[in-house]
Amino acid sequence: MSNYQHILVAADFSKEFDSVMAKAMELQKLYKARLTLIHVVEYTGAMYTGEIPLPEDLDLDQRLAKQAETKLQAMIEQHNLTNAGFQVEIGTPKREIVRVAEELKADLIVLGSHGRHGLQLLLGSTANGVLHQATCDVLAIRVESS
Ligand code: AMP
Repeated sequence: MSNYQHILVAADFSKEFDSVMAKAMELQKLYKARLTLIHVVEYTGAMYTGEIPLPEDLDLDQRLAKQAETKLQAMIEQHNLTNAGFQVEIGTPKREIVRVAEELKADLIVLGSHGRHGLQLLLGSTANGVLHQATCDVLAIRVESS
């Protein structure tokens, strides 16, 4: 098995994520690897389909990104991961996770088999997309349905 050096963990803040994080930390210890957490804020503008134009100063994505930074920082402190880093991006989760993994030269991506997008698919949409597009290994942690 490879000796992983840099593990990228995809954090969606769902309740299922705790078990994903636990497994990622086990691997980090085992391989003495670097650990980076990533959260992707999905474009709110792109999801909006209403008739009323969005106000131009609606800076929701940026505010959500700031909140995500705070949450990731708290998660790192809670688990005492002194050497871990985090990154928050705005965009499409599967694309950004794959892009950042390449940028950081991560050699393993750890994510949940399902997250906030639920169990509609055999593998969730993000998990499936990352699995198909990543250029490094991907570990999908089986999470239970709620
Ligand atoms: P999904 O395929 O969207 O049900 O989610 C599967 C897994 O992808 C989750 O358990 C997370 O590890 C990861 N994930 C989903 N959405 C995001 C996101 N917005 N940012 C970071 N990771 C995510």
